Amino acid sequence: MEDVVVMFPSVGMGHFISMVELGELILTHDPSLSITILLTPKHYEAASAANYIKTITGTTPSINFHHLRPLHHPPPDSSIHFFDLVYQLIKQYRPVVRDALQSISEKSNIKAVILDFMSNHAFEVCRSLNIPTYFLFTGSAFGAGIMLYLRTMLENLPGSLKDQKFYIEAPGNPPICSLDMPSTLQDKDTDSYKNLICTSENMAKSSGIIVNTFAALEPRVMKALADGEYIPDGPTPPTYYVGPLIKGNTGDDKCLDWLSSQPSKSVVVLIFGSLGKLKKDQLIEIAKGLEKSGQRFLWVVRNPPPENEAGHAFEFKDPDLDDLLPAGFLDRTKEMGLVVNNWAPQGEILRHESVGGFVCHCGWNSVLEAMHAGVPLVAWPLYAEQRMNRVHLVEGIKVALRLKMSEEGFVTAEELAERLRELMEEESGRKIRDHVSNMSISAKAAVADGVGVPLSETSRHTGLGEPKLVILPLSGARSCRSSVKSA
Ligand code: UDP
Repeated sequence: MEDVVVMFPSVGMGHFISMVELGELILTHDPSLSITILLTPKHYEAASAANYIKTITGTTPSINFHHLRPLHHPPPDSSIHFFDLVYQLIKQYRPVVRDALQSISEKSNIKAVILDFMSNHAFEVCRSLNIPTYFLFTGSAFGAGIMLYLRTMLENLPGSLKDQKFYIEAPGNPPICSLDMPSTLQDKDTDSYKNLICTSENMAKSSGIIVNTFAALEPRVMKALADGEYIPDGPTPPTYYVGPLIKGNTGDDKCLDWLSSQPSKSVVVLIFGSLGKLKKDQLIEIAKGLEKSGQRFLWVVRNPPPENEAGHAFEFKDPDLDDLLPAGFLDRTKEMGLVVNNWAPQGEILRHESVGGFVCHCGWNSVLEAMHAGVPLVAWPLYAEQRMNRVHLVEGIKVALRLKMSEEGFVTAEELAERLRELMEEESGRKIRDHVSNMSISAKAAVADGVGVPLSETSRHTGLGEPKLVILPLSGARSCRSSVKSA
């Protein structure tokens, strides 16, 4: 029987792509394996997901997609947060996942299941079938550490985070203000909070945690993880650092031609993740700030979020730039800047020689793409765990400048202009620029020929210990954890 690794990604393209990339990485290390990816109909609802599946099926025959049968539940309440909907969906799918694993195991030998952390509710199913079960954590090692630390940090707290303002001390991290913790953790009575605590418990019991990061970027957190500091009352599972997993080039795009006409390291990029949408008054303020800064720029603009965000998060109609931006802005800045509707090939843009800075929403994939390309950041967190990431990026690993914002997250034109000048021209910005250039050397060293990221490379370049490979337990190798301890 052939050996197979089964993967269950979360819904949402970012998580899905990360899982597939991990699958490809595993195959480069062990081509005798095959990968089966479980998908609910929700996973391939979007046209982009269906196209992506088609492409992968064509290029990587060892990756199979197993379509789970549809469930006929009443449509979920549209007021439920997307995050909770995903958890709920996976919970509903538990019996179907069990049937699927049983049927796969009749023909193949399931070596392991890898769950996205948001597919947490499938964990008990896998464990009850005695299958070694891993978690892929799509954020940073810092985020994985915090996730493991949640029970220690929050369960003993009287009341909820939202009721108090204080600084949280977690191993290997600068103190984090309680208000900067994700909204999903703020209220103990919510489903999101309960889902995350349950994920924290299951990750601690798992066979290992796989994180898309590299050693030079987060050494203090990795050391704390290795020393078991995030789980003071029990063992810490092995942790595997497989990053940076960076998307390859996607082809030509007119913004790359425009970048090629700009001087070296002169352009600031402003892109706010796959979902980031800003209100009209903020778009106007950004435009004014860009003009004031005198910097060249490439800016991806989307329509403001509708009043009722539920159900519209993934809608991207072309914005009417003349209506959204200040009168004459596009004309006045046509020599200096490029405004792009909705979406641009961010990875390739950041790798372009003309790019010198990035206003980033602090999403982890964007951070890794910037570090790999050697582009320093101005941190503008918007949603999810991004305010927490800002603490890590600005105060912890020092690869970003902090942008002053109001409590509601509003940034003035003056503040934006000043931070852009600081990042691109000033001495304080130079420290960050130099630090990120070094990070890029380490990131590139961790990537083997643009194909995959053997951890052996990472450890060799950072002195963390002996070579180790991804999914080592499958082939009897050792975890990063033990090697960091012995370093
Ligand atoms: N992205 C892109 N073009 C865009 C916006 C986003 O290519 O206009 C990509 C970006 O390169 C990254 C991903 O979408 O790979 C966003 O992931 P991240 O983890 O940074 O943020 P999220 O979207 O999950 O908040």
